[in-house]
Amino acid sequence: MVHFKRDFHIVILKMIEKNYKGKVKDVHLIDEESVRIVFHDQITAGDGDKKDLLKGKGKLNLDLTYKLFMILDKAGIPQHILKRDSDNSIIAKNLSILPVEIVVRNIVAGSFARRYGLTEGENLKTPYVEFFLKDDKLHDPLIDSNIAIKHNLITSRQRDLMVTYALQVNKIVSEYFKLAGMLLVDFKLEFGVDKNGVLFLGDELSADSMRVWDIETREKLDKDRFRKDLGDVLQGYKSILDRLEKHDFEADRLNLIVKVLITPKKGVNNPAGDVIHRTLNNLGVPSIKKVNTGKIISILIDNPSTFDWIEKIDNAAIQILTNPLIEQYEIKFSFD
Ligand code: UDP
Repeated sequence: MVHFKRDFHIVILKMIEKNYKGKVKDVHLIDEESVRIVFHDQITAGDGDKKDLLKGKGKLNLDLTYKLFMILDKAGIPQHILKRDSDNSIIAKNLSILPVEIVVRNIVAGSFARRYGLTEGENLKTPYVEFFLKDDKLHDPLIDSNIAIKHNLITSRQRDLMVTYALQVNKIVSEYFKLAGMLLVDFKLEFGVDKNGVLFLGDELSADSMRVWDIETREKLDKDRFRKDLGDVLQGYKSILDRLEKHDFEADRLNLIVKVLITPKKGVNNPAGDVIHRTLNNLGVPSIKKVNTGKIISILIDNPSTFDWIEKIDNAAIQILTNPLIEQYEIKFSFD
């Protein structure tokens, strides 16, 4: 049994009560609903062992974050930015940031290559999702999301929704970058919940938190320039923005779909399933033990950022959509 050394929920709740000074960003509480986030010119790597001051980096990171978050917002991903305040700052929703961050990978690089002994640059067949525990003392280790759930760091609904949002972000941003001649290799996202428990994309999406390569030459344009001393860091960051500026891009607004899958509980009679069982047997499908049928209730959410619909759908599933004595249900998220 794994025991975490501290109570993470206490740590998260404290963050919204007081101001927070990070390695490259500060968060100042404005009121119960909102914070000002200031992006600094400091750049760090290796848990802060390597650092430098790059004049203009804060603005470049915010320019890219703002640009991408506005596109994601229009595409239906709930995100935290309320408005741009200055070159280096935004007003954002006051969120309790979850202690688990999510990384999406399209191409092998970084810790993924080191961990599994893979060659950097290999394409992954489908995007790969990983979770990391936000804990400086432990050096932000990889964490199995089931362990994070078991230890109440995140709920299973938050995990599933984070994955759904993150994969949608990956689709949208990869498409935009491709248009501008770049590859989105991997990126890290952080999510948080507002006071009603609604999940929002928080933090940033910049060259500090993603890997971006030129599509032809595979030249690195992101923070790996700093990590590995590969050349002018700011020039790489600026080049990402310059290339994107040349292309208008808007993603389709998609609906979030919540599917409630209802099936009979184990041991409960299911005559419709028995009929299909016999039919399949007659068609020569061998070795079937039991067939269960159920129903799917598909719910399109119009605006996932307005209220805590997850809890309401869960309550409805328990109270009216299912008969808890004989039925069980699971919830799946997707975009249409
Ligand atoms: N990343 C990040 N913050 C972190 C760790 C990683 O923004 O604390 C980003 C990183 O820039 C890369 C992706 O997440 O785009 C995957 O990073 P990886 O796990 O490969 O770690 P690294 O090689 O940076 O140690």
